[in-house]
Amino acid sequence: MSTALPVENRSTVEALVREALYRQMGRKAPAGPTPVLLVNSSARHMHISPENLEVLFGKGAELTVHKMLYQEGQFASQQTVTMIGPRKRIIPNLRILGPCRNLTQVELSLTDSVQLGIDIPIRASGNIEGTPGCYIMGPKGMLEMKNGVIRAWRHVHMSPEDAKHYGVKHMDTVTLKVTAKDCTTRFDDLLVRVDPTFKLEVHIDTDEANACDLEHASKVEIFKS
Ligand SMILES: [Zn+2]
Repeated sequence: MSTALPVENRSTVEALVREALYRQMGRKAPAGPTPVLLVNSSARHMHISPENLEVLFGKGAELTVHKMLYQEGQFASQQTVTMIGPRKRIIPNLRILGPCRNLTQVELSLTDSVQLGIDIPIRASGNIEGTPGCYIMGPKGMLEMKNGVIRAWRHVHMSPEDAKHYGVKHMDTVTLKVTAKDCTTRFDDLLVRVDPTFKLEVHIDTDEANACDLEHASKVEIFKS
């Protein structure tokens, strides 16, 4: 009889078997099994503080779940807004990601920045000093953001264990290699973000995902540059 093990158990069992085999051969097993790497693209979105959410959606407003995301507790909310850029160009249906954060921030792609006619710098999440601002229109009000419009620095979330596996630390940069049907693409300067709550996942934006044809990728790898 064969029973499929849940994934976590399966990788634990695999690691144990591998270890036992190496022990029999009188050798030390190399560091753990290769963790499963997920690469996901983030569509343009907004993070918001509870105070700013109330400005847009009214007193006592809360974000409600549209779809849970891979990182623990993170979700795409049902709430969307309209962004009005500095040159009066508009991005409609900008989705808010939950839960609320301390900082309000809009994350767009390079294509969006061309469409808006403004330069948007690449920043690690939360580092918004000197970035452009915009207006955000919600059903109950309008919010002026003095700054906070960024292109998210491509990054990989990982736990301390995964960081050990790859031999990297928080704020290092690595290379992402995406092997797709017709051609292979490498992205340098992939920022490593380590936190005990993180699950191993690469985040690139929609421009980057299209550039490497992520949808048809047969293999994704990260390695030290
Ligand atoms: Zn991320």
